[in-house]
Amino acid sequence: MTDSQPVITVSCKNLIKRYVTGSTVINALNGVNMDVRLGELLILSGPSGCGKTTLISVIAGILNQDDGGCHVFGYDLMHLSEKEKLLFRAKNVGFVFQQFNLIPTLTAAENVAVPLIINGMDRKLATKKASQLLDHVGLTHRSTFFPSQLSGGQQQRVAIARAIIHDPKLVVCDEPTSALDGNTGHKIMELLKELTVSKERSLIVVTHDSRTLQFADRIAQMEDGKITGIIEGPHS
Ligand code: ADP
Ligand code: MG
Repeated sequence: MTDSQPVITVSCKNLIKRYVTGSTVINALNGVNMDVRLGELLILSGPSGCGKTTLISVIAGILNQDDGGCHVFGYDLMHLSEKEKLLFRAKNVGFVFQQFNLIPTLTAAENVAVPLIINGMDRKLATKKASQLLDHVGLTHRSTFFPSQLSGGQQQRVAIARAIIHDPKLVVCDEPTSALDGNTGHKIMELLKELTVSKERSLIVVTHDSRTLQFADRIAQMEDGKITGIIEGPHS
């Protein structure tokens, strides 16, 4: 008997992305070929400047590639209009940033509620749901706090709650532990794993922190704008 074939949710084929600044051209993505499977936690690893943030920004529909194909849950991102891309992102993608990127003038619950409100939910109900999720990520009694009143680890918990509250099919995390101390970073990875890994979702985590590799189903290695290899992770 053979294992059933994995379902491919993200497919990148010969992805090219250049940044042009004056007369300087940087080939940030130099022909990326990579697949992501349904239900997996894929770690994207590689040295600073190799193109990791650029790649996940294209996959998340934040940046447009110059050439090559990027299909995400059946959407051909190259051929979506800007409006269609906005809708695609609002519905299907959760993004966790290195520096949390919370809105400083909104409370924790209001920050978490944003994706629900964008998707049309009534503000009061959205904020109530956000408070419930904050309880679940260990932030009971912190709903009405502003980001500046929270520690780094707590802010990242808020950011994770914001990334998953609308139940996106793809969660993308850009170095989610690098602004945190080792112990807090480990707890954040455990929380991410617990909350986001599911049979209906794919998770991509960018890291160059070797301590996070233990959480991976697969590890994609990136160098100079290319994927140089994908290996099975310790968790697979
Ligand atoms: P990583 O996340 O792996 O550190 P990035 O994707 O941020 O790498 O960057 C890849 C390359 O593209 C780097 O050489 C970086 O300097 C360059 N780059 C990234 N963003 C821009 C930009 N907005 N304009 C010009 N160059 C950029
Ligand atoms: Mg980066």
